[in-house]
Amino acid sequence: HLSQRLAAVADYVPQGARLADIGTDHAYLPVNLAKNGVIVSGIAGEVVSGPFKNAEHEIKREGVSDQVTARLANGLQAIAPDDRIDTVAIAGMGGALITQILTQDFDRLAGVSRLVLQPNVGEMTVRRFLMTHGFQLVAERIVAEDGHTYEILVADRKSDPEQYDEETLRFGPYLLAEHNEIFIAKWQRELARTGAVLQQVESAHEVPAAKVTELQTKMQQIKEVLQRVG
Ligand code: SAM
Repeated sequence: HLSQRLAAVADYVPQGARLADIGTDHAYLPVNLAKNGVIVSGIAGEVVSGPFKNAEHEIKREGVSDQVTARLANGLQAIAPDDRIDTVAIAGMGGALITQILTQDFDRLAGVSRLVLQPNVGEMTVRRFLMTHGFQLVAERIVAEDGHTYEILVADRKSDPEQYDEETLRFGPYLLAEHNEIFIAKWQRELARTGAVLQQVESAHEVPAAKVTELQTKMQQIKEVLQRVG
């Protein structure tokens, strides 16, 4: 039984996929997908030994050792060409770290046609990475659980992905078009939070002008979007 957040990630793993879940911790995602017959094989990648042991334990306990293998490795170094991985999931970390993992060993994505990414923060960074690395966003989901809001970004390989403007990169093309209650609540909170940060910055001894402009621009963008859709 997966959390709502991981269930939303699982929804975008294609039937018959060969999945690598990078930063897998307990390997809940690949174990669940193997048990449900969605994936034919899975790599559960972890860089830290404690979570790696969690993954090994869970795979054994749930009896899916034939399909799912835990590997102790940094990022995409968990996968090799022989694995013929076609789908990579990375969930539950910041967008900057997700982007760093994908960039570091980008050549290992050669056979990968789908990425399912769930950044906890920094979604804009991830969208920008996809757009500049030959991946087209094909779906987005926003999920509220335990007082947090999570975005799931799904992208497929495409030689000429759509080029988005700043606003679309910040809010997400699909989430913006859908603008559901979770989306609106997220950006109302984000507007208030950004306003508080701006106040703090402005009360500093030496005010960094670039930072002030950045925060003001962000607030303006949020206000415009909320006015349009809220
Ligand atoms: N993916 C699971 C989820 O969404 O529930 C676990 C998320 S957990 C918060 C993040 C995991 O990523 C940690 O177990 C951490 O050790 C792992 N991690 C961080 N950097 C990594 C890297 N470069 N390569 C592999 N795993 C990494």
